[in-house]
Amino acid sequence: MEVFLLQFFDSLYNLINIDVKTTILILFWGNLFFLMMAFAFLISNTHISEKELFKKFIFSKLVQALGWIAFAFRGQIPEIVSVNLGNSLLYFGFYLESMALITITKDITSIINRIQFGIMLAGVVTFNFIVICGASPSYWVGVASVIIISIYLIPAIAYVFNKNGSQFKRFLGSLQLMICIAMVFRATIGFMNKSVSLLSNNFVQSVTFLIFIFLMMINSSGLMLMIYESVNDQLKKLANMDPLTHIKNRRNFMETASTYFSFCKRQNLPLSFLFIDIDYFKKINDQFGHQVGDEALIQTAEIISKNIRESDICGRYGGEEFVVLLPDTDCQTGIEVGNRIRKIIENTPFHEKDTIKFTVSIGLFSDIPKTDGDLDKFIANSDNAMYKAKRTGRNRLCVYDPTFVTD
Ligand code: GH3
Ligand code: MG
Ligand code: MG
Repeated sequence: MEVFLLQFFDSLYNLINIDVKTTILILFWGNLFFLMMAFAFLISNTHISEKELFKKFIFSKLVQALGWIAFAFRGQIPEIVSVNLGNSLLYFGFYLESMALITITKDITSIINRIQFGIMLAGVVTFNFIVICGASPSYWVGVASVIIISIYLIPAIAYVFNKNGSQFKRFLGSLQLMICIAMVFRATIGFMNKSVSLLSNNFVQSVTFLIFIFLMMINSSGLMLMIYESVNDQLKKLANMDPLTHIKNRRNFMETASTYFSFCKRQNLPLSFLFIDIDYFKKINDQFGHQVGDEALIQTAEIISKNIRESDICGRYGGEEFVVLLPDTDCQTGIEVGNRIRKIIENTPFHEKDTIKFTVSIGLFSDIPKTDGDLDKFIANSDNAMYKAKRTGRNRLCVYDPTFVTD
């Protein structure tokens, strides 16, 4: 048993015990590889929305690759280049990478930008100062670790604790936090144990440089996946939005409406449905041009969306027709909401000269949904009520009347 355990730990040790110089070369080539890949992607996809982020990332990889190659030549080139310049480049490269990581969370503020820059600058100055003052190399290790923790702590925290962040970002942030914790151990060993130096071959060093390889892979591949995630989110938003009025398009409205429907059906709650149509819209287009007509559509969508509750939904159903779904709303409240919207539209002039006004006719249907297929019935009945409002003079709200027949 003892022999088995010894063999087991020996194999485990061999799994981690990588030559430090080799890992530094892997870090150089790895960063260069990610740089080339990102660069090739950028020049063949010049239209992507995250271009600036890609540029930041490429620059950070270049600076890091230069830092690692300076490290790799230690002993063959002056110490001022391999240790001082090498470390300074790495801190600068890590800082650039951390900024790219923070940028994608969309939380970036000029304060965070300044804090990160301050941490990096303080790190570069402190490290060079202790090296020039002749501090023991074990202190270099300690100080270097503290600098790296400080640079990556803010992005890690931003990822783990951002409420709007995706699960993938939280996973990535957790890995970064674990790396920061590992660096705390390295810093402690550096400050306590005089025999550790920046490039010495020992267990702590092997673990550390393995961690650097993990960090490079996690941050580089993670950043690319996050860019993919963010572009995907933007596309989803665009696919669901009416491009002119920026409210839900018909498809997205119907999708969301059906979930509201099921909810009201389950809870036995009343649901009100408004069908809103601009009166004599063709005349606005004919008299003032299509652009002015478009402005009227934008204004109508704005008024509708600003005058409903957060739990209500509205969408553009077709040309100058809008639909509103009011869950947990009975007929009386539906009338109040519809008339409020109608009066605001009537009294709000628009266009540069502020002289053109227009009105809307609204149809309302309220009921407790009985089956999931009821959505079509709500649309048809509120549309029917809207026609009644047109026939009876426009600029009014009519409640569905089963005796009214449209021809
Ligand atoms: P009514 O009071 O009976 O509703 O009359 P109307 O003129 O509003 O109705 P009609 O259905 O005759 O005309 C609707 C017009 O809406 C015709 C179409 O050219 C215009 N339209 C549809 N979509 C758009 C758009 O995106 N922009 C603009 N400017 N006009 C649009
Ligand atoms: Mg119409
Ligand atoms: Mg109309």
